[in-house]
Amino acid sequence: MDAQHDVVVIGAGCAGMRAAIEAFDADADVAVVSKLHPTRSHSGAAEGGINAALGNAGEDSPEQHAFDTVKGSDYLGDQDAIEILTAEAPGDIYQLEHWGCVFSRNEEGKLAQRPFGAAGSPRTVFSADITGHVLIHVLYEQLMKRMAHGPMHVYEEYFAWKLVVEDGGCVGVIAWDLVNGGLKLIKGSAVVLATGGLGRIYRVTTNAYACNGDGMAMALSAGVPLKDMEFMQFHPTTLYPSGVLITEACRGEGGYLINRDGERFMARYAPNALELASRDVVSRSETTEIEAGRDVNGSVLLDLRHLGAEKILTRLPGSRELATTFAGVDPIYDPIPVRPGAHYHMGGVETDNWGATELPGLYAAGEAACVSVHGANRLGGNSLMETITFGRRAGRAAAEHALSNPGSSVSAAPLAGAQRELTSLLERRDGERPWKIRDELGASMLENFGVFRYGERMERQLEIITGLRDRYEHVVVEDKGEVFNTDLTQAIELGSMLDVAWTMVQAGLAREESRGSHSRPTEFPERNDESFLKHSISRWTATGPELSYKDVRMTTWKPEVRTY
Ligand SMILES: Cc1cc2nc3c(=O)[nH]c(=O)nc-3n(C[C@H](O)[C@H](O)[C@H](O)COP(=O)(O)OP(=O)(O)OC[C@H]3O[C@@H](n4cnc5c(N)ncnc54)[C@H](O)[C@@H]3O)c2cc1C
Repeated sequence: MDAQHDVVVIGAGCAGMRAAIEAFDADADVAVVSKLHPTRSHSGAAEGGINAALGNAGEDSPEQHAFDTVKGSDYLGDQDAIEILTAEAPGDIYQLEHWGCVFSRNEEGKLAQRPFGAAGSPRTVFSADITGHVLIHVLYEQLMKRMAHGPMHVYEEYFAWKLVVEDGGCVGVIAWDLVNGGLKLIKGSAVVLATGGLGRIYRVTTNAYACNGDGMAMALSAGVPLKDMEFMQFHPTTLYPSGVLITEACRGEGGYLINRDGERFMARYAPNALELASRDVVSRSETTEIEAGRDVNGSVLLDLRHLGAEKILTRLPGSRELATTFAGVDPIYDPIPVRPGAHYHMGGVETDNWGATELPGLYAAGEAACVSVHGANRLGGNSLMETITFGRRAGRAAAEHALSNPGSSVSAAPLAGAQRELTSLLERRDGERPWKIRDELGASMLENFGVFRYGERMERQLEIITGLRDRYEHVVVEDKGEVFNTDLTQAIELGSMLDVAWTMVQAGLAREESRGSHSRPTEFPERNDESFLKHSISRWTATGPELSYKDVRMTTWKPEVRTY
């Protein structure tokens, strides 16, 4: 049976849960739709911390935080959005703390703050190295508290597939019930997309299996533009060979990066910031070392030994466990093999500073969205903060929209159309298995759209994506069942990944400069503000994505050359 709510939030990570809590507190009837149980959302994997200028470990201010973020973004971040983030972050942190987040503390009993890359002051608040785990459980508690007291419903393990657009507005979502099977129409006067990132488009990634860009693809096919899709952040310290993340907090606590000769090579690339240069700089430096043969089995080494056992055990216990389990290395005694891996996507569904997209009734927040506070390169610790601050703002705006535009009606056509599409996919008996296409997409994106980019390789990647899309038309889902049919949902996810990958490579090829995470070392090694100080906007048309550009919003800071 259909359901009707004021606000439907798709996604139950930090952004989705924060949006849902705020919409509820603004008196809306709220539903949360998530393909995972909320506490299994990928936010729970976040390790190092969350940024707010509290000034507990050194002089700091929201203005300093904003400047670091603008500079880190290579001047592509929208400065008004960044100023909102940094001004509202401290209040959001104290609210989380009052809700029960057990943040680590300093000797004075204040919230402890650690240094993170490209930050002018130690401003990363943390819970040892399990910050995301703590945040997600506190937000879930707040969600459950509201479920007990009013109209808050969680559609757990529902796979959102299509946005419903009628009379020029977004009025709900069609979702597949993973536990029982069957499509369900969940109507909402406002919908918030908080579906997270897309790291799984790459073979080596820190992202969980659920991070496939579903929300971005849903927005695209509803006619909503995506922004800055070419900017994929490679994190410098992912474990070899699994791609599991070793947090930047290891370098924040004083860890070194060394090459096969034992040299602290960052001194050559970023003499001042060293290992705490921004992630794009460190990833490029590592890749250069590896390509120059100063590697150890395709990796460089993260050395924590000099920190001593006590610091590693109290500040970085999770990283030690990960290194021991996934690389067989105990960092108290041996350096950890690491290399850059696809980690965070700066682009996403284009929104204003309240999470509103250009489609009335549709909002977006978190990694699925592009407000944009990260521009061409995100600073570590800013993403969790964005999920909270802009999740809250999107939830508030969605509730206000829903309460002033109540009860839109929805025709039977969208559900009937989705049912026909599903039936034809499930009735296909012969064809290629989706996983093969997924594997080829992941490997080729890593090869042709990685840390360094070259025109010829990007053109090849566009051809590869076209070929994979043709093959995708004939994929076969072997599991025809209703209950937990992951064969079906993975086939649908693959379609999203192929659409979104196309927008990424198209925007990358057109950006003839090097900025932030988009580096074209041989053809266009410099940033070109005259031609490319602008956002890429990708919109879906009958022939695929179409690219246009939009100005960056600047308030205070003029672009300067970045030095570290
Ligand atoms: C290993 C790791 C460590 C990190 N550490 C830090 C850190 O220390 N500090 C920091 O600032 N940032 C960190 N980041 C980045 C940050 O954690 C993420 O950007 C952020 O948590 C994303 O939150 P989100 O709510 O947008 O998405 P997610 O937490 O990924 O949640 C997405 C939600 O959408 C749901 N969903 C997706 N598709 C569908 C669909 N089709 N139907 C229904 N539901 C769907 C999922 O079930 C999930 O509930 C880290 C990232 C990684 C990968």
